[in-house]
Amino acid sequence: MKPFLILLSAALFLAAACKEKSPNATDMNNPFFSGFDTPFGFPDFTKIDTTHYLPAFEKGMADQKAEIEALLAVTEAPGFENTILAYDRSGRLLKNVSSVFYSVNAAETNPALQEIARKVAPLTTAHYDDLMLNEALFLRIKTVYEKRGELGLDSLQLRTTEKYYEDFIRNGAGLDASQKEVLRQINQDLSANEVKFRDNLLAETNENFRLVIDRPEDLAGLPQGSIAAAAQEAELAGLEGKWVFNLQKPSMIPFLQYSGKRDLREALYRGYFMRGDNGNAFDNKEILANIANLRAQKARLLGYPDFASYIIARNMARTPDQVRSFLNELMVPSLEAAISDREAMQAIIDREGGDFRLASWDWWYYAEKLRKERFDLDEEQLKPYFVLGNVRDGMFDVATRLYGITFRPLKDMPVYHPEVEVFEVLDADGSHLSVLTLDYHPRPGKRVGAWCGRLREQYYEDGEKVYPIVTVTCNFTRPTGEVPALLTWDEVTTLFHEFGHALQGFFADGRYNRIAGNVPRDMVELPSQIMENWAAHPEVIAAYARHYKTGAVMPTDLQQKLQQSMTFNQGFATVEYIAASVLDLDLHGLKAPRELDINAFEQESMGRIHLIPEILPRYRAPYFGHIVGGYAAGYYVYLWAAVLDTDAFQAFIDSGDLYNPQIAAAFRKHILTEGGNGEGMDQYRRFRGKDPVKEPLLKKRGLMKQ
Ligand SMILES: [Zn+2]
Repeated sequence: MKPFLILLSAALFLAAACKEKSPNATDMNNPFFSGFDTPFGFPDFTKIDTTHYLPAFEKGMADQKAEIEALLAVTEAPGFENTILAYDRSGRLLKNVSSVFYSVNAAETNPALQEIARKVAPLTTAHYDDLMLNEALFLRIKTVYEKRGELGLDSLQLRTTEKYYEDFIRNGAGLDASQKEVLRQINQDLSANEVKFRDNLLAETNENFRLVIDRPEDLAGLPQGSIAAAAQEAELAGLEGKWVFNLQKPSMIPFLQYSGKRDLREALYRGYFMRGDNGNAFDNKEILANIANLRAQKARLLGYPDFASYIIARNMARTPDQVRSFLNELMVPSLEAAISDREAMQAIIDREGGDFRLASWDWWYYAEKLRKERFDLDEEQLKPYFVLGNVRDGMFDVATRLYGITFRPLKDMPVYHPEVEVFEVLDADGSHLSVLTLDYHPRPGKRVGAWCGRLREQYYEDGEKVYPIVTVTCNFTRPTGEVPALLTWDEVTTLFHEFGHALQGFFADGRYNRIAGNVPRDMVELPSQIMENWAAHPEVIAAYARHYKTGAVMPTDLQQKLQQSMTFNQGFATVEYIAASVLDLDLHGLKAPRELDINAFEQESMGRIHLIPEILPRYRAPYFGHIVGGYAAGYYVYLWAAVLDTDAFQAFIDSGDLYNPQIAAAFRKHILTEGGNGEGMDQYRRFRGKDPVKEPLLKKRGLMKQ
């Protein structure tokens, strides 16, 4: 499970059309209109200027509006080609500019781009509503839907027709005129609140807090790399000779793990868990209350008891109850394991003569001690073996062995930042498959976490395939001085994870945009999480883990310790994750709008699952970015998909071949390429030949009853 995946395809759903604008002189220079004269049509960031985005959005909306008008002017009876297909192909410019804009706004934003995002959000929301609430358009789609059985459609055409009909109904096409007006207003209000929430969160994470240390003795226990990075950070901030720690994971986590200064650990962790809850201009509590209430109202209007039911209806899980019982079942062994670890950590505190109870800001520090005690393993011993470039090559190698694809570096591409690496992805037969960008390190304009997106999605134009451009963006430890970027184990698995999403991007292939690569939310993390299993396999580790100075393979005993420690602290990890998932479900379980005190609500919600005070939900409500973005009522999906990914990986293990070509081919076909062609569970069964089971997951996390 990874902190922050933004599926940029969600942004593509923002379709749009309100203002008609005639082309003017500046349009001639707008590369979004002329196309990119670059290898593979890569977006040319040497030519794209900030001022190009808004006109491109506006023209994109106007174009789509004109396309819809043309579709509605057709006099023949509505059929698949003249209605469903025409609609499916509309809005291409808008989709293309959205892909580029939202990728850059996440990876390298600035006040000008943020301002555009604020301007565009209400426009695209209104545009999307204009489409979804267009009665003539809905009537044509409904007509095709109702006679779909008689049109001789193939299964993909049928599914595309059904999905579009559902989309319209779920977006209010079945409402009367006054209800439609209410819905429009709700969507506008939601969009404004969501943008504000994200802006606040970015400021609270990257700007509003830092821990400045000016006495060397306060660095006691910290690894050299962490101290060097903090000195670098201080220099950037004009604080030469001091050390600055921030709320980005590469800065914060080592501090929490290794700093012996309890008060400083508390100060830093407080900075983290109070984001959006500081009663300042960036406070997110009221904004989140608005969002929860607006969503409750929207769900009721559309005929659902609550927003969670509205969202989950389309997922593999189908109902919130199904999700709750799934989470509850896993909470029991996870909480037991976490409590047992807590007692072991308290014993260390007592033994060391510390006269205090373990608190949330102590967990990482004592977990590290416990890890050393149990496995004689220090995370810092591992890092010299996880050189970023080697891990990347090891990951490419896994993909080559599984699918035959290869990676060719592309130099001098017109990227949005000089740090971005670009590769061409070639299929087994040497044909072009995709372009991949890799952007590894934190920068002030980058969102936290790691994600996979698209600078361009795959689509067909006049029967010709336009190939995708897939992005992987991370916030990994930077190189310092002579030392290359050395990753933590968490960062290693994160890279494999995002690369798994990228594989789905490379392989997705479909003529209908509505369904191509479009899998249910609770299946999205299967392609990504399954790659983490290869990342952790001894055979694979042995290939990529080489010492940065000597090139030596990781010693066997260290490898064994790493393997043994993989189940370590999984009680904590699973509990904090389930807690956040439950908080998400509760916030989206409101049956009607009401006065909401977000902190009191969170406390009650966490009380119901008996969360222990030493563990906070992985995201507290005021900084729960996932649920404001595309993961509302959907944070559970990582754990749901963890059942799928461990069960799927077990197929390779059981076959005795880690790269079994038949199983890999079936996974590529039914999940990665055709995942959107059928219902999620049906696609899974086509791949696996059976239903998934939980045992491999429980075993992997060490939560299986002995
Ligand atoms: Zn993911």
